[in-house]
Amino acid sequence: MKHFPIFLAVEGRRIVLSGGGEAALSKLRLLLKTEARITVFAPEPAPEIVDWAAAGRLALVGRALEPGDTLCAKLFYAADEDADEDARTAAIAHADGALVNIVDNLEDSAFITPAIVDRDPVTIAIGTEGAAPVLARSIKRDLEERLSPALGTLARIGKSFRRAADALPFGRPRRDFWAAYYGGVGAAAIEAGGEAAVRPALEDLLSTHLGTAARPGHVHFVGAGPGDPELLTLKARKALHEADVIVHDRLVAPEILELARREAVLLDAGKEGFGPSTPQERINEMIVAHGRDGAQVVRLKSGDPTVFGRLDEEIEAVEAAGLGFTIVPGITAASAAVAGIGQSLTRRGRNGSVRFLTGHDMKGFADHDWAALARPGEVAAIYMGKRAARFIQGRLMMHGADPATPVTIVENAGRPCVRTLATTLDRLEPALGEANLAGPAILMLGLSPREAQAALPRGDIPVERDIPVQEAAL
Ligand code: SAH
Repeated sequence: MKHFPIFLAVEGRRIVLSGGGEAALSKLRLLLKTEARITVFAPEPAPEIVDWAAAGRLALVGRALEPGDTLCAKLFYAADEDADEDARTAAIAHADGALVNIVDNLEDSAFITPAIVDRDPVTIAIGTEGAAPVLARSIKRDLEERLSPALGTLARIGKSFRRAADALPFGRPRRDFWAAYYGGVGAAAIEAGGEAAVRPALEDLLSTHLGTAARPGHVHFVGAGPGDPELLTLKARKALHEADVIVHDRLVAPEILELARREAVLLDAGKEGFGPSTPQERINEMIVAHGRDGAQVVRLKSGDPTVFGRLDEEIEAVEAAGLGFTIVPGITAASAAVAGIGQSLTRRGRNGSVRFLTGHDMKGFADHDWAALARPGEVAAIYMGKRAARFIQGRLMMHGADPATPVTIVENAGRPCVRTLATTLDRLEPALGEANLAGPAILMLGLSPREAQAALPRGDIPVERDIPVQEAAL
């Protein structure tokens, strides 16, 4: 950048121009938009210049510029369209300390005048350092078309309202207010009732925003369910619809993210079993930063947020930041999986308790009370169990579990692409490895698909049986 753009304060300051022809006229048309005091030196001024002088818009001196004429001038334009005369006048102005522009002489000019899009007080200056005046003009044309003629009026009224808007807390609430004003509210008011309608519209908008700004940032921990948008709770839908920021897991289905407002910021806090992940601290930071900024943050977790979701760590971070939180429960994978196989998690006379287990924890394969789990009739939903299957199988058999204990593997439970694989404990591996599952899968220990359910073309995909059909439940 050889020329650095700045906006010069010229209100009440002196600008002097030498010249009375076309070049002088084109510069004067721009200069007359300013609030500077303009003096023109021209032995033969064009009639427009004479008229402007008569109207008091500039001072006209009907002779050539002489030493002393540019005293106290901020800017000087040499616009005589004559190289010698321009050099002479420029030297005088330079000696008097003015910044000098010689029309059509980039080399000898201390500054250049950009193409201007004028929506005073919004001014856009376009410069090409003399490289492409045609390009500058076409950019100007584009912007002139794009920016409403009322923009200047809106900005002027907006400026006079800034103090009132300071009643809103600094940061997001204030930004949102101005974004709403310039993003449509202001223009709509002008269209409906002219300039006079803008201030009342601003006052209305402010009271609305003052109402919502009183609402501090809040974090909603929301269960997205197993993937089917119809398995979302109404509360989850509402939270998604009202969220400013949504921090979601990779397992959350795209169809559910679709339900967010168009303006909502979606942040992927992707975490996959053993794959690349966003560190938990980073996720906590994201949630807290947006909450502090006054946002309604939805932390969207697959299934139920309270099941294997590291929810407590996030709640602790939110609490430490002094933010409020709510938990919106969701349908956990185990519930979706049993529903899909027509079974229930508990059954009178069979199991009075059910366990949700994780296949692996922070230290590796997770240890559990294998002896208890190995007892007949036990039911457990094993999350994150794909890799740990052989380990789990070994532990259970070692603790005396019946090798024929049913195990049902449900991949993509509660989604259209659900896949159900019925097997037994002794066959869990290799069955699981051979199935080559790519989606999230849950292992339902102690349950096999109900016969009627298995016979139905449920979810379009019939149950795959790794074992001969046998009693539905133990
Ligand atoms: N909070 C989630 C569990 C997160 S842990 C819930 O309540 O469901 C991630 C594990 O959940 C996955 O490894 C998988 O075992 C299981 N899971 C999540 N969604 C699933 C789905 N649609 N089908 C089968 N298992 C799923």
